[in-house]
Amino acid sequence: MIIVMNPKCSEREIADVKNELTRQGLGVHLSQGETFCIVGIVGDTRRIDSDNLLTFDGVDKVLKVEEPFKKANRLFKPEDTVVNVNETLVGGNNLGIMAGPCSVESEEQIIEIAKAVKESGANFLRGGAFKPRTSPYSFQGLELEGLRLLKRAKEETGLSIVTEIMSTDYIDEFVRDVDVIQVGARNMQNFDLLKQLGKTNKPILLKRGLSSTIEEWLMSAEYIMAGGNENVILCERGIRTYEGYTRNTLDLSAIPVIKKLSHLPVIVDPSHASGYWYLVEPLAKAAIAAGADGLMIEVHNDPQHALSDGQQSVKPELFDKIMQKVKVLAEMEGKSL
Ligand code: PEP
Ligand code: MN
Repeated sequence: MIIVMNPKCSEREIADVKNELTRQGLGVHLSQGETFCIVGIVGDTRRIDSDNLLTFDGVDKVLKVEEPFKKANRLFKPEDTVVNVNETLVGGNNLGIMAGPCSVESEEQIIEIAKAVKESGANFLRGGAFKPRTSPYSFQGLELEGLRLLKRAKEETGLSIVTEIMSTDYIDEFVRDVDVIQVGARNMQNFDLLKQLGKTNKPILLKRGLSSTIEEWLMSAEYIMAGGNENVILCERGIRTYEGYTRNTLDLSAIPVIKKLSHLPVIVDPSHASGYWYLVEPLAKAAIAAGADGLMIEVHNDPQHALSDGQQSVKPELFDKIMQKVKVLAEMEGKSL
C-alpha cells in the first residue's frame, strides 16, 4: 500500500503519518522528490483502515499495491534509482559498461584485458573468480586467488570490479574487496544468500534466473532490499526457451517491462544471452536502443584458449567497435557513459 502525500505537505504532516503507521507495527519507506511525496507501507497491510489515513492532513490518496514486490516497485519510488559505485553511476542517464573475461585466468590475462576494455570506454571490469559450472570437471575458477588478481587489475586501471559470489562462505572477503557483487542466474533464488547480501551496503548485480519470470526476479531483488540494501542493479542475461541455435533467448521486452514496474536500473548481458561472439554486437545495440542502463560483455584476448565461454567472448578489437556504436545509441537515448 502507498500513501500519496500532497507534494507540498509539511515535514510535520509526513511525521504524523509515519508515526501512525509505526504505531500500527508497519514498516515505512519514504520517497520524496520535487513533484511527489510517497509513503510506502511495508508489512501486513490487510488490516489498514485507509479511510482513517485519509483524514490525516497532507494525505491525497491511499492506494493498494497489487504487485508482491514493494520496495522494488516504481509506485514506492517514482524516480529511477541511480546506484553509485565509487562515484561511477549506473541508472538514470548513466550507463554502466561491465566488460572482461568470463573467468580470471592469470595476472597477465586480467590486467591486459582490463587495460583494453578501459581504453574502449568500459567503466567496470568483470571476471569470475568463483565459477558456477555445469560440470564438476570443468574449470571452477581461481577462487580467492582470482579475487586477488582482480584487485591487482583494479590497482592498475582504477576500474571498479564486478565478480560473482556463489555462497555465503566468503561474504566478508567480497564485501571488503569487490565493488559490485554479482549474483549469478543459478543463484537468483538462493534466498539465504540474498538475505545476507541485504544486510550489506554493497551494490549487487542480480542476474535473472535461467527460467525465471520477471516477477520472480523482482521478488529476489525485494529480498535484498527488504534487508535494507537498496543498491540493486538487475541484469537480463537471456532465458531458456525451445530455441536451440542460441544458448539462451534474450528477453528484450524485459527492459521496458522492468522500467515500468520498477525504479531499479537494468543492464543486459548479450554474451550469456546468445552464447556466440558474433551475436554480441547486434544484441548489445538492441539492448541500448530498448533503454537498458548498461551492458555486461565477455571480452577475452585469446578466446580460443579461454578456460570458459571462449565461444561467446569478443576480442578487444571488436569490443572497441561495439563501444563506439553503443556511445552513439546511448546519446540517442539521452544517456552517457
Ligand atoms: C557469468 O556472468 O559469468 C555467468 C556465469 O553468468 P550467468 O549467471 O548469467 O550464467
Ligand atoms: Mn561466462
